[in-house]
Amino acid sequence: MCFDFHIHSNFSDGQHSLETIAEHAVETGLQAIAFSDHYFTRKTRSIKPDQLPVYLETISKLREKYRKELIIKSALELDMLDWILTGKELSALPADPSIDFFLCEYVTNESLSGMPLKIFLKFRSAISKPVGLAHTDLPIAFAGIPANELMAIFAEFNIFVELNEGYCRPGDTVPFYRHWDPYFHQALSHPVSFSAGTDMHSDLTILGAHSAYRYLESKGIRNHLIFLHEIDPDRSSLHND
Ligand SMILES: [Zn+2]
Repeated sequence: MCFDFHIHSNFSDGQHSLETIAEHAVETGLQAIAFSDHYFTRKTRSIKPDQLPVYLETISKLREKYRKELIIKSALELDMLDWILTGKELSALPADPSIDFFLCEYVTNESLSGMPLKIFLKFRSAISKPVGLAHTDLPIAFAGIPANELMAIFAEFNIFVELNEGYCRPGDTVPFYRHWDPYFHQALSHPVSFSAGTDMHSDLTILGAHSAYRYLESKGIRNHLIFLHEIDPDRSSLHND
């Protein structure tokens, strides 16, 4: 299984065009990718609302071009800290039906700098699309919330959690998710979905969340992967292996 659901192009702060990335994904045998460029944030170069139609149209053309070889999803990465600091309303969220999901960064508990989970849950409840947390180190970002409670909340509000290959704790050499066993254990009894990606910005050779997928598999929860029904239609119901 070979996919990557967190990728940046030069529509935001990535180095390569959507075309180059899709072409590379096909050449290296990926089965599915998601473009998740930053949307409308002050943090970094991002897609402005008037640029969104071109972004989505370009992805749609690539989807058509590679329809036999590669599943391509359109996503946007949302900076929830900036969202709250700039007082954006929910109506600022683009409603284009071709957006497949929103990836949200900087959602935290009350004591850290981010959008507090309580507010995020209201935000999430008002959106019909899939919504997930980008590269969030669960035990740190939600310190004080027991793993069973947190996973019950994510299941109830249908919030998926990303396993990101590129984020390690300071001084550590393995990705965050390698420290999440209590959460994965809870996922055996809560229907929480997971995503996986690299957050690729410039190095095309890192594309593909292979280890994250194998890790989910080793925890018996590969079937909790988002879009699995499209990548692997034969084994896709949300039950544990
Ligand atoms: Zn990102």
